[in-house]
Amino acid sequence: MQKAQDFAAGSVVVGLIVLALKTGAWLLTGSAALFSDAAETVVNVAAALVATLALRLAARPADANHPYGHDKAEFFAAVIEGTLIIVAAVLILQHAWQTYLAPRAIEAPIPGLALNGIATLINLGWALRLRQSARALRSPALAADARHVMSDVVTSVGVFVGVGLVVATSLQWLDPAIAAATAVYILYSGYDVVRDSLGGLMDAAPADKIVERIRLLVGEYAAGAIEAHDLRMRHAGRTTFLEFHLVVPGTMTVADAHAICDRVEDALKVEMEGLVITIHVEPEGKAKHRGVIVL
Ligand code: ZN
Ligand code: ZN
Repeated sequence: MQKAQDFAAGSVVVGLIVLALKTGAWLLTGSAALFSDAAETVVNVAAALVATLALRLAARPADANHPYGHDKAEFFAAVIEGTLIIVAAVLILQHAWQTYLAPRAIEAPIPGLALNGIATLINLGWALRLRQSARALRSPALAADARHVMSDVVTSVGVFVGVGLVVATSLQWLDPAIAAATAVYILYSGYDVVRDSLGGLMDAAPADKIVERIRLLVGEYAAGAIEAHDLRMRHAGRTTFLEFHLVVPGTMTVADAHAICDRVEDALKVEMEGLVITIHVEPEGKAKHRGVIVL
């Protein structure tokens, strides 16, 4: 976990360097499109900063105040990020509108584009490095970080080509139009992040495929029990919570019923990392004849 945090901190540093270069490019040229590119990087830096803090908090073990752990801190980070994305998009659109109403020629295009190009190459290198580490460390937070930086690279390339076109063709309306397109793209990419995180905050169930697989395994390993019902799952970051009722013959000893529970728990924990399981044992009078039927 320590290494994932190091990479998140690295993203803040790289982001600040890239932001300085892009801000320079915008100030040199006065281009609305280059402003939009710099604004996107502000969001990325802020997001990386919040993610660093959130990862640190989420990694803390459960304590008396937070007996279910701190995993949801990661979702808060994403919701804050979503808010930042909306603010950035609004600022970009406002700036683009003003530029459209009062168009001005792009100044010093060559040094401006050069600065922006260098910033984009740094971003590209970092995105590839992050993507590789995210795979090696199997960190969803790092993978999300890599996707952000990569989407920043995509808009930067679009902005670079667009500003080049404005200079070549003298079509000044293109500049705010590209800025507006960037704002729409940022909103679109931010929507995904926020939707997933709200799902986590609202205790959304894991994908149907996962729930089905878990039900199957419960049925497979609970031999000796009669049935399992009221199976519920929710996930919080890397931790997934599972609970269900296990119906056993009323005459079965507590030790035997517990042995079944342990067998099911062991099998499920092999299947799924970070699974927390609670099983409620009931005598057969409580059978509901629905849910997972165990033979
Ligand atoms: Zn029950
Ligand atoms: Zn036990």
